[in-house]
Amino acid sequence: MAKFKIETWGCQMNEYDSQKMVGLLKQDGFVQTESEEEADIFILNTCSVREKAVHKIHSRIGVIKKRYKGQKIVGICGCVASQEGRALMEKIPYLKFVLGTRSTHLITEAVNRALNGSKFLDSNDHKAEMDAPITFAERAGHTKAYISIIEGCDNFCTYCIVPFTRGREHSRPLSIILDEVKDAVEVKGIHEIELLGQNVNSYAFEGKTFADVLEAVSNLQGVYRIRFLTSHPKDFNENLVRVIAAHDNICPTIHLPMQSGSDRILKKMGRKYTRSEYLDKIRMIRDILPESWISSDFIVGFPGENEKDFLDTMDVIQSVRYDNLYSFKYSPRPHTAALKLKDPLVPDSIASNRLSILQHTQEEIQMNKHMSMVGHEYTVLVESLSKKNPKLLTGRTEGNHVVHFEAGRGRQLIGKLVDVRIETVTMASLKASLI
Ligand code: SF4
Repeated sequence: MAKFKIETWGCQMNEYDSQKMVGLLKQDGFVQTESEEEADIFILNTCSVREKAVHKIHSRIGVIKKRYKGQKIVGICGCVASQEGRALMEKIPYLKFVLGTRSTHLITEAVNRALNGSKFLDSNDHKAEMDAPITFAERAGHTKAYISIIEGCDNFCTYCIVPFTRGREHSRPLSIILDEVKDAVEVKGIHEIELLGQNVNSYAFEGKTFADVLEAVSNLQGVYRIRFLTSHPKDFNENLVRVIAAHDNICPTIHLPMQSGSDRILKKMGRKYTRSEYLDKIRMIRDILPESWISSDFIVGFPGENEKDFLDTMDVIQSVRYDNLYSFKYSPRPHTAALKLKDPLVPDSIASNRLSILQHTQEEIQMNKHMSMVGHEYTVLVESLSKKNPKLLTGRTEGNHVVHFEAGRGRQLIGKLVDVRIETVTMASLKASLI
């Protein structure tokens, strides 16, 4: 039977889509391989959130074509497929199929057609399929189950391509979500659930809110840990924080992307909150959940960002002292409203310099935070043997810190909760001993 390899770029939603495609292809008898050489079918599940990622994908396809002299079937799925659709097939005649973000359930049809010599393109908005139960996603080798609760986004932040690649918001039925959680826990033996959505706080289905989803998942037997991604600050409310506080198995780990500390830039970004409203929410979270872990996203070099705006961002970073940060230079994306702004573009050298100041500051904050964990005990969910040193196990704390510790009983502990004491730390991870 033909072998396939899926290469996944981008966010957790893409990883989850790849797991679904792996499951469907295996059900149809195809064999997964991690070897590029062995694969007959090469599938790129793509990300288009930044321009650089799109360039890398185009160059990756060129390399595959040249290296294997056109012998492999190559298909593209995900955000670049949604964004470019038919144009992508016309630009790269070598491609055999293009599947948008809402068409990945058609992967076996696309592959079978390609094997029979024809091409396949679909980037339609398959709403009914989104509501169907997904118990076929490949979960083998995973200790965390991704489950999507809402797809798409209606926020149209002026820099973001996601509403154009993932479509309008569509909340999935709560009963289907709960069935998928039960399948992950009871059938697949996975006890950590990560609920996914471009904006989980917008969840709305037959009067149920995101807080209702969290509470219902939390009450299911065998769910040790629940995480969720991503929250929009404008929709993040006290009710939700109180639900987190009331349930021990909901990790108090909150990713609240701020993007800029300047009101002027937040307005141009279309983020629909002010700096002080955002900071009030951080205070509210820490009042109710003193043991919470907060992370964020920031963009530097947005059109019109001046030195004062950047200092406002740095001021927020220094005062909030995030547990983790994801930071990027502004990347112009097709279709987005930011392209029409009259504001001057920030020269790349200035944006790079601002990014490096921001990241350096965060590294210091993060290192100090990690150092304060030394000597303390934490519960870790064991995920795997360490990739670099198989004598060590790797797991994560509630706060999502990566922890390595001596394997001891080795693989038996994978998927289990264990208590560890932190001994040494780096910026990226913690070293611990089993208690
Ligand atoms: S909330 Fe804004 S940044 Fe997030 S996916 Fe939607 S448009 Fe993009």
